[in-house]
Amino acid sequence: MKNKLTEDKNIILITVDCLRADHLHCIGYPKNISPTMDSLAKNGVLFTNAIANAPYTPYSIPSFITSRVPPVERFKETISSILKQNGYATAAFNPNPIVLTSTITSGDRINKGFDTFDLLLSSKNKYDLTIGVIRQWGMKYFRRKLNENGLFYKIIYSIYDKAIKKFPVFLCPKEHLIVPSAMEVNNYAIDWVAKQNGKFFLWIHYMDVHEPYAPPGYENQKEMMYLITKYRDFPNALTKLEIQKLMNLYDLTIEYTDRAINDLIEKLEKLNQFHNSVIIISADHGDAFGEHDNILGHGGKFKAQFYDEVIHVPLIIYGHKEKGIIVDKVVQLLDIAPTICELANVPIPVCFFGESLFSKSEKGAIINSRSYIGYRTKECKLIINKSNSKRNELYDLINDPRERRNIYNKNKEVTKKLELEMTSVLKKYKRKKELIGIETQF
Ligand SMILES: [Zn+2]
Repeated sequence: MKNKLTEDKNIILITVDCLRADHLHCIGYPKNISPTMDSLAKNGVLFTNAIANAPYTPYSIPSFITSRVPPVERFKETISSILKQNGYATAAFNPNPIVLTSTITSGDRINKGFDTFDLLLSSKNKYDLTIGVIRQWGMKYFRRKLNENGLFYKIIYSIYDKAIKKFPVFLCPKEHLIVPSAMEVNNYAIDWVAKQNGKFFLWIHYMDVHEPYAPPGYENQKEMMYLITKYRDFPNALTKLEIQKLMNLYDLTIEYTDRAINDLIEKLEKLNQFHNSVIIISADHGDAFGEHDNILGHGGKFKAQFYDEVIHVPLIIYGHKEKGIIVDKVVQLLDIAPTICELANVPIPVCFFGESLFSKSEKGAIINSRSYIGYRTKECKLIINKSNSKRNELYDLINDPRERRNIYNKNKEVTKKLELEMTSVLKKYKRKKELIGIETQF
């Protein structure tokens, strides 16, 4: 497969926060909620086993922008700085403020190499989001301090539950009203594209699929506000039916985002910038709906969120010469930046840990978080608990794709094999670190 582009094409990277792979129709979801993405996949290259290198934004996004295993503490280049050095105009429109306040504590931030890096948030928006986070922490603290089976907790909850039902507008989390919608993000991005005369790299990040799940124009606003408030403040009180309803809202946000991608394509077409662009679509991680131990969302600090609902993400490349290709080998998001280099006919810098998604090599994906490190192949998943080896996990993904039976202690042979493989991949990255002379936690 020839991967280099014959002419200089623009590169557009679209990432959808929290979009899990198994909710795309082209990856087997029964509901047809992703027609635009499905069509791009059908006419492009679809990676059906793409794995995020971390289960939450502050680790995942810096990882794929710098092609390094998270946590990315310091780095030399981003994909944007490399493209900028090679004559691309560069811009990011990303309304997730976490990307600039993430774990990178010194040196450059991931806006390195972007001519424009716009969070699209005013100071008032950022203030309102901070208040939202404080409220979330407060509620978490309250839940942790009180015995959820105790009488006091039950009384407080029952009063609160009545209050949400009566005053949903007042108590409901407001992020969906503060953070720009996908269609609004498109407008800013298209304004920038309209000013470009040469080739460009554009990164668009959509937040609509992130909780609170509030699809624009949803009919039953009162129920939606009740559900997303309960999800945020008393998640353990949600019934199975309510979780199902929340998943339905999640799906509607996917449908909305898919329409926004279509809107973006139409606007690019009007500017004659669609057919000379490569479009890459992915997500920083997915989201859980109680599939394991009733865990919801992503980013849990004390529970492994390495199950596929959180780390298996979509990955589509459209505009590549090949059409209708399905790649089912395991790939990881830190391979995106080297692939972009290859597509742009730019040498892959030695500081990138990944390799082209089109390379022939077969290897597993590394997943890392504060408390766990994991290794995912097509057949198995190993999850190592960094502080308690008794809680290590191993799943046979062929016979147990839903990851229900932990066989860590039952199948020593596979466990040993995966541990060795993971160690050898990590050693390779350590050698990379030595080669470029940058300290990382890794
Ligand atoms: Zn995220």
